Amino acid sequence: MQFCDECGSMMHTEEDTWVCRSCENEEQRDSQAETAMAIQDGQQDEGAPDVADATQDAAETMAVPCPAEDCNSDQASSEMLPKPGGSYEVRLFTCVECGHKWRES
Ligand SMILES: [Zn+2]
Ligand SMILES: [Zn+2]
Repeated sequence: MQFCDECGSMMHTEEDTWVCRSCENEEQRDSQAETAMAIQDGQQDEGAPDVADATQDAAETMAVPCPAEDCNSDQASSEMLPKPGGSYEVRLFTCVECGHKWRES
């Protein structure tokens, strides 16, 4: 996910560039972002990814208590997701022990 340096709008990918549809600013996609996007696309295609393996590279692990009642884990991997219809993102947590998923409130 990339935001426009000029106007702050969410940018869209076209070929190997990020394109802002608000002010027509363009930026080259860096290889790191591209790798993360490829991993996210792969997860969506598989439908039911192996949580531990699929999130290993794309997500970071944070010290966050799991909200599941029968789980005492305080470690969860987190990743940023686009908010439907919005121009910003929401953090998605995945418990490393029970795989419970929840969104940052
Ligand atoms: Zn812009
Ligand atoms: Zn848990």
